[in-house]
Amino acid sequence: MSYLYDIWDDFISLLFPRLCYACGDHLLRNENLICTQCYISIPRTNYHLTADNPVEQLFWGRCQISRAAAFSFYNKGSRIRKLIHNLKYKGISEVGHELGRIYGQALGNSGFTETIDIIIPVPLHPLKQRERGFNQSEYISKGLAETTGLPVERSSLVRITLSDTQTKRSRYERWMNVEGIFAVTDPEKLKGKHILLIDDVITTGSTLEACADELLKIENVKVSVAALAVAVQ
Ligand SMILES: [Zn+2]
Repeated sequence: MSYLYDIWDDFISLLFPRLCYACGDHLLRNENLICTQCYISIPRTNYHLTADNPVEQLFWGRCQISRAAAFSFYNKGSRIRKLIHNLKYKGISEVGHELGRIYGQALGNSGFTETIDIIIPVPLHPLKQRERGFNQSEYISKGLAETTGLPVERSSLVRITLSDTQTKRSRYERWMNVEGIFAVTDPEKLKGKHILLIDDVITTGSTLEACADELLKIENVKVSVAALAVAVQ
C-alpha cells in the first residue's frame, strides 16, 4: 500500500514540484519548505544563549529591553534572506510559520522564553496591511507560539502612523520618523506582563524601539525582542 502511495506521491510531485524556498532545488519526500542543505547552512547567531549580545547592545542607552536575540545573520545572498524575501514580498506564510517554529524551539530550550507571558508581533499600519494582505511578523509569531506554547496578542499594540520608506534616511532621521507611530489600545490587558516583541529583520532597531517605548509606559511591563534575522551593520 505504501509502495502505491509512493508512486502516487512521485506522480503528484512531477505535476506540482515541491521546491526549496531558499535555493529552488527539488525537495525530498521528508523535507518541508526548506531543503536539509539550506536548513543546516542558515547562519545562526545563537544570541539567545548570550546576555549582552550585539542585538541587546543595539538598544543600550535607547530603551530598557530585557533580552534581545535574532535567529540568523541577514547576510547578502544568504539563504535566510531569500526565505524572508519569499515570506515578506511573495506572501509565503508557511515560511514565516516554519522559521518561527524552528526559532521558538531554540528559544524555548534555552530558557529565553521562560519569563515571557505574551508574544506581540510588530504591527503594520492597517493601510499597509490591507495593501500587502498580511503581516509577516504575525506568521512568525504563530510559529513561535506553536513551539513555545505562548499566546499571541495582536490587537493591543497598533501602528497609527503610516511612515514612508526608511532606507535612505540617517539614523537620527529614522529615529525621528518612528517616534510616536505606535499606540497601545488596551494597557490593562498588558499590565505586569513580560512581552516578547517579534519582527522579521532588525536593522537599526528603531521600529522595535518605538514599539517598546509605547509598551514600557504600561505599569510593570517588561519587553524583550526577537527577530528572524539581524542585518550586520
Ligand atoms: Zn535549499
